[in-house]
Amino acid sequence: MEVWFTTGSQHLYGPETLARVDQNSRRIAAALDAALPLKVIWKPVLTSKDAISRLLTEASGEPNCVGVIAWMHTFSPAKMWVNGLAGLTKPLAHLHTQADAALPWGTIDMDFMNLNQAAHGDREFGYITARLGARRTVMAGHVSDPRVAGRLTTWARAALGWHAARTMSIIRFGDNMRNVAVTEGDKVEAEFVFGADTNTVAVNDLVAAVEAVADSQVDTTVREYLDLYDLAPELAPGGERHDSLRYAARQEVALESLLTGWKASAFTTNFEDLGALRQLPGIAVQRLMAKGYGFGAEGDWKTALLVRVAKVMGAGLPGGASLMEDYTYNLEPGAECILGAHMLEVCPSLTTSRPRAQIHPLGIGGREDPVRLVFSADPGPAVLVGLSDLRDRFRVVGNTVQVITPPAPVPSLPVAHAVWEPEPNLTTSAECWITAGGPHHTCLSTAIGAAEWAEFTEMTGTEFALIDRSTTSGSFRDQLRWNQAYYRLARGL
Ligand code: MN
Repeated sequence: MEVWFTTGSQHLYGPETLARVDQNSRRIAAALDAALPLKVIWKPVLTSKDAISRLLTEASGEPNCVGVIAWMHTFSPAKMWVNGLAGLTKPLAHLHTQADAALPWGTIDMDFMNLNQAAHGDREFGYITARLGARRTVMAGHVSDPRVAGRLTTWARAALGWHAARTMSIIRFGDNMRNVAVTEGDKVEAEFVFGADTNTVAVNDLVAAVEAVADSQVDTTVREYLDLYDLAPELAPGGERHDSLRYAARQEVALESLLTGWKASAFTTNFEDLGALRQLPGIAVQRLMAKGYGFGAEGDWKTALLVRVAKVMGAGLPGGASLMEDYTYNLEPGAECILGAHMLEVCPSLTTSRPRAQIHPLGIGGREDPVRLVFSADPGPAVLVGLSDLRDRFRVVGNTVQVITPPAPVPSLPVAHAVWEPEPNLTTSAECWITAGGPHHTCLSTAIGAAEWAEFTEMTGTEFALIDRSTTSGSFRDQLRWNQAYYRLARGL
């Protein structure tokens, strides 16, 4: 994947100046190429309406291009950009920078001033993007400043997530769990806003795929389990329940082959609609999340979307992303924390420890005991996000948290879990989350933070209600009210 680096200029100061602009522009693009987690493609300096329109149309049509960075080096009269920007469909970053950080005070003359006039050139560009209401992020500073490279990296990761959403297919085995409200939503609207399509695949197709898996494929997958996890003795080869592990491996192979066949990067299951499956898929789902697939339980395609986007935004970074669910609180004063888990499906990318493969009964679903990986998520900073459908728009609610080591061992807990302290504290976090109508299913990411989600929601025009260390219940409630008015007005009639 790549982003295009574009530089605006004009012919007013002659070819020598433009040649210097060309050199400086290549230099800045090369610095960004070295700093960002994707390719930065330098594009020839733009000096006319036609060239701008042509380039931004090309960017919109280029499948590998996930965004455009724009810099107005020597003033680029912004009427030239109106047509091009109106047709741009990719995320836009307005980088407000200058070729060099230091001014040569002893030699500075008008030629230097005319060459290095982004200080007002970028204001001209800012005017037109503001006037057009173009979605963009403005970043100011010299590229040698790590904060600038860091913010552009955040933007680039969000652009990769945006691209993943635009090209995503989500398949659902089974519909929504009956009567649950927050996991429902407008799938057509989601395809418009995020790009992801969501379609049902019959659970009978999965049953048939499970039956069709070759024993040799099961053998290979079981060998991976032996390499990567500590198996409960009853699940190990020769153990009395080894067949349950082999069946779980069979489910993993079948799910992955169906996802590949449907070109899907995310999926959901439903424990009430398992057809002839013998187990609810547990370890299979956990491992597919670890391979980068998005997942939501109980038909929750919106969380599947978020988990997939988080996987892509955080690719290559330490940590991971998973479906999560707020389960149980410790409300002791001074030690408040949340125990999050799911009935089975938490992604092992959240731990650097060696998970344990275990088999336990499941009180719901009415099938054989499912195999699952059990572990505690690594301590460290993380962000939770949840996606709610508010009828006229989607809202992403976020909360910055600190994942902690469980305060005491939890030997009887038969599922993977994370324990965290939400910011600014549990009561404010919970009050704000509930006031915002945030869901109980979330995506927990330890690889990326709130900044990536802020950029992603900006790119998709989605409301982002973030609860962090500076949040108070009163101001957050006001923010939700203002957002309600804003998103209705911004949408137009
Ligand atoms: Mn659930």
